[in-house]
Amino acid sequence: MKPRHLTVIPKAPAPDTPQERGRARIKAMPKPAEIAQCPRCGGRELIEARTGVTISRGRASGGTKCFLCVLCLARGERVIVS
Ligand SMILES: [Zn+2]
Repeated sequence: MKPRHLTVIPKAPAPDTPQERGRARIKAMPKPAEIAQCPRCGGRELIEARTGVTISRGRASGGTKCFLCVLCLARGERVIVS
């Protein structure tokens, strides 16, 4: 069997659905600079996640902290909001 290689394709435009129109409208709305917003869906609900937490004597500590979009996470996508 011949090996298959991955190729880069141009980004396809989002489908023209009511949900996608709502996302575009929300992302285009002006927002205060200090409010974090998901670059993919425009959601402002975040959840904190930590990678590399160590547990010693029953207590968790350390790790690298990042914020994930809750709405994207509920759809199975991992989007980091910084
Ligand atoms: Zn999102």
